[in-house]
Amino acid sequence: MRTAGFPCRLLGCERAFQVIDQRSMDALRAASSARSDHEVNAHGYHHLRLPDEPSYTSYQRAKQKPAPPK
Ligand SMILES: [Zn+2]
Repeated sequence: MRTAGFPCRLLGCERAFQVIDQRSMDALRAASSARSDHEVNAHGYHHLRLPDEPSYTSYQRAKQKPAPPK
């Protein structure tokens, strides 16, 4: 089982940002944006969120979208 939190998405970087309260949307958002801030500040990396990437938003909403054409 993984550690809870948001790991930096850059390969080779081991920074991770803990979510203080797993049930708190604010805590999830704070950890997520802290991670994004770190990625931009430390690596100059701007992550593009994919439409089907699981996130803290409702999973049900993503399901209503049509499948992306391949
Ligand atoms: Zn990093």
